[in-house]
Amino acid sequence: MIIDEDLMMIKNTIRDIVTDKIKPLARVYDDEERFPEDSIQALRESEFLYMTIPEKYGGIGADTLTYATVCEEIARGCASTATIFAGNNSLGIGPILKYGTEEQKAKFLPRFTKEKGLGAFCLSEPHAGSDPGALSTRAVRDGDEWVINGSKFYITNAKEATVFIVFAKSNPELGSKGISAFIVPADTPGITVMPPEKKLGIKASVTSAMSFENVRIPSEYLLAKEGDGLRMALSILDKGRIAVAAQAVGIAQAAFEDSIKYAQERIQFGKPLSYFQAIQFKLADMATQIHAARLLYQEAAKLADMGKPFIKEAAIAKLFASEISTKVTHQAIQIHGGGGFLKDFEVERYYRDARITEIYEGTSEVMRMVIAREVIKG
Ligand SMILES: Cc1cc2nc3c(=O)[nH]c(=O)nc-3n(C[C@H](O)[C@H](O)[C@H](O)COP(=O)(O)OP(=O)(O)OC[C@H]3O[C@@H](n4cnc5c(N)ncnc54)[C@H](O)[C@@H]3O)c2cc1C
Repeated sequence: MIIDEDLMMIKNTIRDIVTDKIKPLARVYDDEERFPEDSIQALRESEFLYMTIPEKYGGIGADTLTYATVCEEIARGCASTATIFAGNNSLGIGPILKYGTEEQKAKFLPRFTKEKGLGAFCLSEPHAGSDPGALSTRAVRDGDEWVINGSKFYITNAKEATVFIVFAKSNPELGSKGISAFIVPADTPGITVMPPEKKLGIKASVTSAMSFENVRIPSEYLLAKEGDGLRMALSILDKGRIAVAAQAVGIAQAAFEDSIKYAQERIQFGKPLSYFQAIQFKLADMATQIHAARLLYQEAAKLADMGKPFIKEAAIAKLFASEISTKVTHQAIQIHGGGGFLKDFEVERYYRDARITEIYEGTSEVMRMVIAREVIKG
């Protein structure tokens, strides 16, 4: 898709920030498995960190295409930072924007803009991953309060968040129709965030298990209607997948650019690697796959911005982009030979980072289930 001048300007702005301030730190944060505070600060200062919040609440009101384009650029420099950024916008801010009342927006959105906090989305549980309807965290009404008890796992931004979106069963007898969503301030007593998980990739984004023990919140922190939680969670994830697809494209793009550079510099048999057709064809395949994946997420984003159905397109974009990201980063290591296997080059990080895009916000198997459901229903 040929993007317009305004979006091109934003793309160039975020590209400069990523090139100057984020990409140079990515390897250090990854090695140290440390939250990329300086990279997040660069996004805070430029207001990209909470870019989906409308201007009237202190944000910049970015549409989905702009948001996804920025996500791609961030991922091109640091996939961990892109995870934190997307976790904040799609999953932390998204539910409040889409389902919050005016009072909830006025109360909680400044936590992202003025207080510069992060949001986290607490859906997954040890026995409820691909099947979130099976979650068992409980919310019980007690007068003017809700009392939440239970455990969550794999929660992005849990340690850094100031606001949690928590999904819990308020009426277990109704099964998945008894799930409700709540806004829970992170400083509410009874919340424990476990130490960060050790991961294969996106090591600088913090992922933690959490527990809720008699966590009391006012009744007005319920999001939308009681029993609507699962529908809301799935709808938030439908859109969030566009950003994950963009993240996958960003990682693949970085691996592709490094591969071209290396293929032009590395001499074997008296010629640069780029002279050999076997290497040229790998680069051609990478270019083709990245181009197609980018078009797919852009189309899904455009549909979302136009208020048209986009669930199938978002799932197709995430499925395709995440799988080609794995393939492209795999081939990038191949082009770099032994060096690609070492930490001497960035491609080993891209290879590890790409893998998560096939798993979170719905695995590739779940994407195929969503696409199949959409195409079969016609
Ligand atoms: C780094 C990281 C960050 C995350 N961040 C968050 C977050 O912020 N908030 C949050 O709520 N969750 C988060 N998650 C959880 C993530 O969304 C889940 O890991 C994912 O949905 C898969 O669930 P699972 O791990 O329990 O796998 P399972 O559901 O146990 O699936 C295991 C395998 O079985 C397959 N499978 C399952 N059911 C079927 C089926 N019916 N048909 C065919 N195949 C099937 C899956 O596709 C997968 O391949 C995160 C996970 C990771 C690793």
